[in-house]
Amino acid sequence: MTTNKLNKRIYYIVVWIVIAIMISGLLIDNPRLGEFGVVYISHSILVFILSLCLLIYPKNGTAVLRVTIIIVASVYFYVLFLFYPDTWSTFIFLCFIPALSILFFDSKLFYFSLLLNTILIMIVFGYILLIDRGLQYPYIEEDPLGNFFNFIASQIIIYFIFYLTSGRIKKQQIYYEQIQHSERLKTTGQLAAAVAHEIRNPLTVVKGFLQLFEQDSSFSDDRKGQFSLMIDELNTAEQVISQFLSIAKPDKENETENVNVNVVLQSVTDLLHSYGLLHDNRIELKVTGDCMISANIIEFKQLFINIIKNAIEASNIGDLVHVTTEREKEFVVIKVIDHGQGMSEAQIASLGTPFYSLKSKGTGLGMMICFNIVEKYKGTIDFHSSIGHGTTVTIRFPSSKP
Ligand code: ADP
Ligand code: MG
Repeated sequence: MTTNKLNKRIYYIVVWIVIAIMISGLLIDNPRLGEFGVVYISHSILVFILSLCLLIYPKNGTAVLRVTIIIVASVYFYVLFLFYPDTWSTFIFLCFIPALSILFFDSKLFYFSLLLNTILIMIVFGYILLIDRGLQYPYIEEDPLGNFFNFIASQIIIYFIFYLTSGRIKKQQIYYEQIQHSERLKTTGQLAAAVAHEIRNPLTVVKGFLQLFEQDSSFSDDRKGQFSLMIDELNTAEQVISQFLSIAKPDKENETENVNVNVVLQSVTDLLHSYGLLHDNRIELKVTGDCMISANIIEFKQLFINIIKNAIEASNIGDLVHVTTEREKEFVVIKVIDHGQGMSEAQIASLGTPFYSLKSKGTGLGMMICFNIVEKYKGTIDFHSSIGHGTTVTIRFPSSKP
């Protein structure tokens, strides 16, 4: 049995126990049992609605149903409190209503429940003090302030429990995502290395033959010129593949050095300026503080060429792309900000997947390479984006000690 199935089974067992308790509250020793008045009928209806909601929840777990459950449960407990004034223990339930919403792992729902409960308790206390005047609820009326403080204290305790659990769950979620992400990087890295390796071998063979032909006197000088052009092109291809391989599998020869981020970014933006001007975009670089990191300079350039290129490609004609650097304690923080098309949450989550590209001529390899480089130098990369408003890419590297 999967944990999911097991959880479902436990859920139903618990819900049926809760329903049984609610029904026994209706049937066993209920002072209003014989009357069948408004009180008893509304009590029965609430038990029915709440049971129904709890039973259909696993099949239809929408946010609307969650809110409905919380509202119905709140009304149910307040009705119990008001209808059965002899049973003072129902007051305890009022204190613990928001605890129910913790079970749904929905923080908005929790705050809603907390607010609703506070409003309802104030109305009830107001009713008891001003209208009822302790006739039916003497235990509240005798010490209203004490009761109210106890209520507030219970809400604070529940909030504390909520805060601790939700914090832990969020941490777990982030951890899980990181594991998934690094798993993906590993497989894509291996794939890239394998492909690049396979391509390099045939290239070497072809280049070898071309070099032979170049020496061969039976070819005309014209032909030989063409051969040397072909060899040049193959050299470029080889270089690209070597670079790619060096990223895909960590290479010991790859030298890390102290990189002055500001200087290198200046050269990258200069390089990209021509690219930016093609689209009528400008890149504005704003550097503060001395920012040194240890990395391989080629990889560092490659990282920012990719990211700034994406920013320009996402921008509208004439828009500025901002690149800023600053020191933040032990870290160098670099931001690339565009005001272009932006991305949805789902799109951001897909970044780094090989061949994921929304461009007609995109390769979808840029971000994958970037993630690899950032990971290699123990940095982090974050995306803040909203559709139609633009994207901010924040990269953090541990700063090196000179
Ligand atoms: P490519 O640029 O070849 O498409 P990338 O891996 O560099 O591949 O980017 C993948 C996709 O992520 C792009 O196609 C684009 O849709 C999206 N993307 C990346 N950066 C940005 C950005 N700054 N603004 C909007 N979308 C972006
Ligand atoms: Mg790109």
